[in-house]
Amino acid sequence: MAEERHESGVWDVLVVGSGFGGSVVACRAAQCGKRVLVLERGKWYRPGEFPRTPLQMADNLWNPKSERYGLFQLWSFRWMDAVVASGVGGGSLIYANVAMRMPAEWFCQQRDLWPLDYAELDEHYRAAEKMLGVQQFPAHLDERVPKIGRFDDAACGAGLRVEPAPLAVSFSAPDRPLGDDIDDGGNVHGVRRRTCRLCGECDLGCNEGAKNTLDLTYLSAATSPQLRVPATVRDLSDVRRITPVERGERIEYEVGYFHHDPVTGDRTCRTERARKVVLAAGALGTTWLLLRNSCPENLDRLSDRLGSGFSGNGDALGFLDADDDRTVDSSKGPVITRIAHADGHLVEDGGHPLFAAWMATALEPRVYWRAVRLVVAHVAKRLVGRPDTDVSDEVAEVLEAAEKARSTMPVLVMGMDTTSVGSMRLDRRRRLEMDWPQLDARRYLRRVWRTVDRLARAGRWRLRRGPSDWLSRGITAHPLGGAPMGRTVEEGVVDPFGRVFGHPGLYVADGSVVPGPIGANPSLTIAALAERFATKIVED
Ligand SMILES: Cc1cc2nc3c(=O)[nH]c(=O)nc-3n(C[C@H](O)[C@H](O)[C@H](O)COP(=O)(O)OP(=O)(O)OC[C@H]3O[C@@H](n4cnc5c(N)ncnc54)[C@H](O)[C@@H]3O)c2cc1C
Ligand code: SF4
Repeated sequence: MAEERHESGVWDVLVVGSGFGGSVVACRAAQCGKRVLVLERGKWYRPGEFPRTPLQMADNLWNPKSERYGLFQLWSFRWMDAVVASGVGGGSLIYANVAMRMPAEWFCQQRDLWPLDYAELDEHYRAAEKMLGVQQFPAHLDERVPKIGRFDDAACGAGLRVEPAPLAVSFSAPDRPLGDDIDDGGNVHGVRRRTCRLCGECDLGCNEGAKNTLDLTYLSAATSPQLRVPATVRDLSDVRRITPVERGERIEYEVGYFHHDPVTGDRTCRTERARKVVLAAGALGTTWLLLRNSCPENLDRLSDRLGSGFSGNGDALGFLDADDDRTVDSSKGPVITRIAHADGHLVEDGGHPLFAAWMATALEPRVYWRAVRLVVAHVAKRLVGRPDTDVSDEVAEVLEAAEKARSTMPVLVMGMDTTSVGSMRLDRRRRLEMDWPQLDARRYLRRVWRTVDRLARAGRWRLRRGPSDWLSRGITAHPLGGAPMGRTVEEGVVDPFGRVFGHPGLYVADGSVVPGPIGANPSLTIAALAERFATKIVED
């Protein structure tokens, strides 16, 4: 991507991270004529470039210390595991596309925590939904996705209200084929995109360009050549330091970062200056950055609430195994297509890529033993001089034993787990650590598993809880909090417009500002908050 330099050497707005918070702010600031620089630690991924082979996947993790600059960062704290993304477009690259508003009644239940009214989010939700092209999973595709009918039946049987998921994906019209061309008016990659082919690979990155990810929406708008000053997005730029610098009456910020050159392999230290800095490195990334920079030389007036209010958004993962021979084939369709509403939590159908089905098949004991039996029988027949040269039926029999691959469906739960509030801090080696009260989560999880068990029984499934459950660990793909919003510095790290208390010109716009669980999939709420914060960032 070409980079625009500007004359003064000082950017109007420097955004750290390009996920649901960062891309939105970058776009709105650039559209208001501001000179915007986005520093993103991960790479650009054009549709078609997302890794798929096992070898590529091994390199698809994020850890610059071992020179890995891939898409997934895995965290393992004492009682909580988390997965986040690293790449231009942040979590949108690997998320399951559910773009859902926080239910109003759940917001009301946590009214004291939120320093703004639910109604204030409405126009921003609408703006984000429009930019992300959100639509419900279309009914004309239902019959092509076997898991849908079965999930609907089970949810209804369990007395749960179920609806098609609102997804930020481009689907073909009823009279058009899957994989049809998308006319998006041009995008930052200059590539042709195609509508969803129902391949179930959304969590690995969409190689069709059917997902309306942030690079293809907000960042394409932010970098549009039609803008007076298109934003600059610099990838492989890992921010470490934020230092306020006095310039007369004004405060500017110097931002220090490592830039990785993928051609030479060099990792160089660089700095940039900006009048306003917006931290949007995600709940874990931003909290880590603020904790690291909370010192007399850098950010010395941060709220004591820094690190507090962590929530895993009530996430839980289970598997439903059919105890009859009805096919589910969870590798068909987008990863999530349905949302079932329970009291204080949601249950969503999960999917997986096709290769996961092959892996499950290879690991299934029945398949393994049938394969061993086949080889032994074949060798024995050869030894006695009666070789069977046509073994097609035998091989088919081996594969037919792959019940799990066709009859198992992952099931995803999230909800209002208000009891398990964690806190983050730096350990002695300045790494991020989290204290998460796993025992407090049990009451909430008991309710969750009762619902899923009811749904499983109604659908003639057996429920297997995910490994984190029997290890009593939390697991989350939706980390929130760490730099929560509040009305005052005693209540929060930022105010209701994302302004960091004590540090004018410094903002936070990402999942870290969320003061409690959202309960629903959180990305749309994070984008809506960023839309709201952007109005002040360009005005202040
Ligand atoms: C597998 C999976 C599926 C999911 N499915 C859904 C879903 O269907 N719906 C939903 O609502 N949510 C989903 N989520 C969660 C969603 O992705 C997150 O809630 C959302 O991305 C958070 O937005 P954010 O702006 O806070 O941070 P992110 O989107 O994580 O963006 C932060 C960005 O900052 C960058 N960064 C971090 N540190 C630095 C640094 N020091 N310097 C420079 N850049 C940095 C990161 O690389 C990243 O690009 C899913 C998550 C996962 C992992
Ligand atoms: S199902 Fe496949 S084509 Fe459709 S959005 Fe997901 S990854 Fe893209």
